[in-house]
Amino acid sequence: MSEQSSCASHPDWSSFTLEIRCPRCGYDLRMLTVARCPECGWRFSWDVIIAAAKQRLESPLFEDHWHDRPLRSFFGTVGRSLLPWRLWSQARLEHVPHVGPLLTMVPLVMLLYAVYWLANTFAWRWFFSGFWSALRYSGPIYRWPYENLVRKTVFFLAVGCALWLSVQVYRHTLAKHRIRQVHILRVVVLSWTALVASRVVIGLVLMVVGMVLRKLTGPPPLGGRPPAYWMWYAQPAISLALFVASVSLGFRVYLRLPHGWAGGLIAVGLTWAMVAVLLLGLSFYYFDSLKNPWFSLLELWWPGVTRWIISVFQ
Ligand SMILES: [Zn+2]
Repeated sequence: MSEQSSCASHPDWSSFTLEIRCPRCGYDLRMLTVARCPECGWRFSWDVIIAAAKQRLESPLFEDHWHDRPLRSFFGTVGRSLLPWRLWSQARLEHVPHVGPLLTMVPLVMLLYAVYWLANTFAWRWFFSGFWSALRYSGPIYRWPYENLVRKTVFFLAVGCALWLSVQVYRHTLAKHRIRQVHILRVVVLSWTALVASRVVIGLVLMVVGMVLRKLTGPPPLGGRPPAYWMWYAQPAISLALFVASVSLGFRVYLRLPHGWAGGLIAVGLTWAMVAVLLLGLSFYYFDSLKNPWFSLLELWWPGVTRWIISVFQ
């Protein structure tokens, strides 16, 4: 392999021996002289694609660093997911997706959520009734936080599956651009990570702000709303906005699909519609009522809409 191959133009094919393929469609790019895939139209940079072939393209993702720096790359990937623009301009199609570690992100992110949820519940109890009381009520006898955590976990996993199904609506566009399922999976997993991780981060901020306000202003009047009540509505709104942004930028910046924003918005809309239908079905067939803990999960995201659904159906 000659040193010439690292220049900005195509490598000297007579001495370049590595296999070099289009990151989007897998087409063999050998012997090409123009930096554009004749199969799918992907415009690439010779520098980047040669670095990828030599396995010298630096990736920030957990997928590529789970073996050498697992914790740092996991939290790094979760942190980047909260800044979708940064994430999708750093995660490149040239980084070959590794399905195993990519899917491992899902249980790890759920574990992070579980730790947050139990710590949050414990902290509030400590705040209101003291450390020993909080410790006493954190045992397995007091089941509510644990049951709720199980429901939330199932709910988040259902959202992830629904997102993957929703994106399949674009299968014609995806097939036209020769986009492979592994790349779609990366957009789905990392956007879903943004949704769950943002709930954790905003939840922690709200916990601290809520406790400080409570200390400053005392308990709310009987029947009145606690201070900064609006913030509890802001939490799902911010998470959803981030979710839409991540899917859209994944389409637009990472997969370079046209109409990325519209595509992202429709995919997320379909996702929530699917989850709502699932919860409605579950409520009618299993509980025979919409006033059940599963349907209340939707209430956490769409307070007004669920009240409207309840008034229509019951
Ligand atoms: Zn291609």
